Amino acid sequence: MPVPSWSRAVTSSPKFAPENYASLPSRVSLHPETDLYLNEWHGSGFQLSDLPCYPNGPDSIFEKVQECGRCGSKNIVVVYLCNWYDQSGADIDLELECKSCGTFTQYKGWA
Ligand SMILES: [Zn+2]
Repeated sequence: MPVPSWSRAVTSSPKFAPENYASLPSRVSLHPETDLYLNEWHGSGFQLSDLPCYPNGPDSIFEKVQECGRCGSKNIVVVYLCNWYDQSGADIDLELECKSCGTFTQYKGWA
């Protein structure tokens, strides 16, 4: 899969994760994790390497989105991720919470 183009926004509250994200388990799957074409998770905070589809940790697809969009800290957790794939490409929504500055970074990628 080609490396996606990413756009980025930074907010003080979550945009993709639900308002009650902090009271959720660390990772909640919203679709069967065996679905190859649509995967979606939210939660109070997980790492990409926790996901069954990234057993070796984040691959090159996520190389550029492993830091806070505000302060650049790598002390981040994922609070939302949606991967959608088909023959024409991929659409990825990712939201990180920064444990250093407390902001949320939304990354939208397509390839
Ligand atoms: Zn930060």
